[in-house]
Amino acid sequence: MLTTAQTKLTTAMSQVEMPKTPRSDSPKAQRSPDSSAQFADDISTKSVHAGEARQKLGDSITDPIFCASTYTFENTQSVIDFIEEAQPREEYGRYGNPGERIVERKLAELEGGEDAVLYSSGMAAIVGLLMSKLSSCDEVIFFDECYHRSREFCTKHLSRFGVVTRQVRTCDYEAMEAAITPHTKMLVSESPTNPHMSCIDLERFAELGKRHGIETLIDATLATPYNLRPIEAGIDYVLHSATKYLGGHNDLLAGVVIGTKEKMESVRNLRGIMGAVNSPQNVYLLSRGLKTFELRMQRHNENGQRVAEFLENHPRVQRVYYPGLASHPYHEVAKKTMRGFGGLVTFLVKDADWRGTADIVDAVKIPRIAPSLGGVESLIEQPLVMSYYQCTPEERAEYGIPDNMIRMACGIENADDLLADLARALETAS
Ligand code: PLP
Repeated sequence: MLTTAQTKLTTAMSQVEMPKTPRSDSPKAQRSPDSSAQFADDISTKSVHAGEARQKLGDSITDPIFCASTYTFENTQSVIDFIEEAQPREEYGRYGNPGERIVERKLAELEGGEDAVLYSSGMAAIVGLLMSKLSSCDEVIFFDECYHRSREFCTKHLSRFGVVTRQVRTCDYEAMEAAITPHTKMLVSESPTNPHMSCIDLERFAELGKRHGIETLIDATLATPYNLRPIEAGIDYVLHSATKYLGGHNDLLAGVVIGTKEKMESVRNLRGIMGAVNSPQNVYLLSRGLKTFELRMQRHNENGQRVAEFLENHPRVQRVYYPGLASHPYHEVAKKTMRGFGGLVTFLVKDADWRGTADIVDAVKIPRIAPSLGGVESLIEQPLVMSYYQCTPEERAEYGIPDNMIRMACGIENADDLLADLARALETAS
């Protein structure tokens, strides 16, 4: 049974008073490089303390891991009190667990939203949100650089339930507006996109939705709440694969959607039915990873910028996709909306076929060959091989995935070591 009392738990258990996010004109706000965007500088205070009780069970400084699938009631009256919402508390593990509530409150605070619903993966979050908001004959419009599994869910699976998916070129706001019909219920994009790192003008995107009475969703996985503030720009739902920077250690899967309490109620309800919750152990790892979120993001931003600048000046590199570079087509939008530009750097190797490109991937010694991003360990991959191997050359051309593309997810290692490793690999690989 999922009641509003459970939803209320998200606030009722919060005992640590967090100071409000500073206004943009307050001295506690930071300015993004060359940008008018303002960013609060209380991220670490929130990621360490928000959502947690001040005095915890066993007087422990860390939250305990409750390994419980169900929660006991003292007597029948307490069951009735719970059902009648007099007593917010846990009931059954599929509706959430105490650790999950803490992380949900923390993430809602970090994102500047009212409520967060945590899922067992980023994809579970996307599926859960879209399933809870879309019905037969509804339409959803995507910018086409979205994560290929999100698009696949819509085109192959939501379509079986009569939901229509339209895709328009990323950042073509006119095309998106032209694709809107009376049935359109949601506008979806990532920012930045993966692997091209295109950046959305969030205010324009939000305004488009509002003008047509359509909800907007930004998957901000590559940016995180440290680098991007979609809710402050008027976006309805922000989504993250917490598997990436939020968890930050390549050791867990999780996802989260953040929005207003009212909008999140149906999302939370469906999650309770889907059962895509996090185990108490998993959620502890996420909570622990979040404690160092800001420190890690600062290093990811620094490493991403250093690696991108190095690659752009390297004779074996044809092109670099990184929004922190003036050469990136969305550099101005990125400067306007982002604090830093993250750890993901995509580049094309000059005059290389797929094998020559693979030789460079194989020659690096620090980054490990793996999909994913946002962890402390740097990762590297060739999108052609890792994610698009089964596609035809025509499909790869349509998705903008050339044979000579490499994607590097900078971790938190020392930048000089990453640069030396890349320099050696680019010089020695055939
Ligand atoms: N959103 C983006 C932008 C991603 O890159 C990914 C995964 O790579 C997902 C969502 C899905 O997240 P998860 O792997 O946690 O299911």
